[in-house]
Amino acid sequence: MSTSIMQTRQECYICRAKYNVSTVRGLEEHHVLNGPLRPMAERYGLKVWLCHRHHNEPGYSAHFDHHCRLWLKKEAQAAFEARYGHERWMAETGKDYLKCSML
Ligand SMILES: [Zn+2]
Ligand SMILES: [Zn+2]
Repeated sequence: MSTSIMQTRQECYICRAKYNVSTVRGLEEHHVLNGPLRPMAERYGLKVWLCHRHHNEPGYSAHFDHHCRLWLKKEAQAAFEARYGHERWMAETGKDYLKCSML
């Protein structure tokens, strides 16, 4: 199991980023890239810990809210590119989430 390159502490990524709260109970692992890109997410540690509410409950959560999902992908791309650069990201995924202005 690879470790996340998106966070160092084991706490809910969204509670920390959006509310500056450290939630450490009931965490679930979320692969930020899914479908055919899920193995890549695993290989590079593009995953975050989320509390159940922010992971898989109706409302603002990774599996119910597409803005939330896209925001996490932008965060993943930024973390990846800080380490490996933009060209490698494009070669691996073929998608530039940072250019997507849906947010
Ligand atoms: Zn949370
Ligand atoms: Zn998930």
